[in-house]
Amino acid sequence: MRKNLVAGNWKMNTTYQDGLALVSEITNMVQDEVTGSDVEVVICPPFPFLAAIGKQLPENSRFHLGAQNCSQKESGAYTGEVSARMLQSVGCEYVILGHSERRQYFREDNELLSQKLKAALATGLKPIFCVGESLETREADDTFKFISQQLQEGLFHLSNEEFDQVVIAYEPIWAIGTGKTATSAQAQEVHAYIREQIAQAYDAEAALNTTILYGGSANAQNARELFSQPDVDGGLIGGASLKSRDFTDIIKSF
Ligand code: PEP
Repeated sequence: MRKNLVAGNWKMNTTYQDGLALVSEITNMVQDEVTGSDVEVVICPPFPFLAAIGKQLPENSRFHLGAQNCSQKESGAYTGEVSARMLQSVGCEYVILGHSERRQYFREDNELLSQKLKAALATGLKPIFCVGESLETREADDTFKFISQQLQEGLFHLSNEEFDQVVIAYEPIWAIGTGKTATSAQAQEVHAYIREQIAQAYDAEAALNTTILYGGSANAQNARELFSQPDVDGGLIGGASLKSRDFTDIIKSF
C-alpha cells in the first residue's frame, strides 16, 4: 500500500560503535520531533550491524530495518554472500536492490536483479528497487526509454501479488552523491512516467498504490519541495542519512 517513506542508505560507512550512536540519536530525535505524520522510516546499515541496530529500533514504531543487498541464492556454498533468509532472521523487513552502485561496481544487471527480487520476495522481504539514468542517457533524451527497460526487464516479471510488496526508488545516477539534485519537476516527471508504466504492466490500482521514492542528493533543504510533488512518496537518502539532524529534518519534511 502506498505510504510516505524515508529510507537511509548508510552504504559502507560508520563503524559498529558509530552506527549504534547514530541510530540512537535518530530514534530519539524522531520520537521527540515527528508527531502527527505517519511517515515510515527504514534504516539500512551495513550487514554486520543489522542485528544490533534492529534491536535498538523502537518496537511497533515507524522504524523498520533494511539491508542494502542480498544474494539471489537461497543458501549454500557461496562464500561471502548473505541470503534473504539471513536478513529476515535478524529482523530486516526491507532490502535495497538494484542500487546504481551495485549495478556499476558489481555488474548487477536486470537479469540478476530479477533473481534477487524473487529471492527477497520468497522470504517476505520488501524490495526497494532502484532505477535511474546516467547523465549521458539524460542528455541523449533517452531517460524514459532507459527507465522503461529497467522496469520491464528487472521488475515487471513479478506477479501482481509480488509487485504489491515492492517500493520503487528513482535515483538519477548523476544526482547520487554529487550534490546535484534533480529539480522537483524533473523528479515528478519521471515518477509520473513510472506510475504510467506500472498501470500498463499491471493496472491503475497497482500504479496508484505503489510507493515511489526519490533519491539523489536529497537533503534537509530540498526534501520538502521534492516530497510535495504528487507522485513523490518520500526519499532514499545516502549522505544525509549519516547525520542525525539532517536525516530527522528530512523525515519531518512531509
Ligand atoms: C543513494 O545512494 O541511494 C543516494 C541517494 O545517495 P545520496 O543521497 O548521497 O545522493
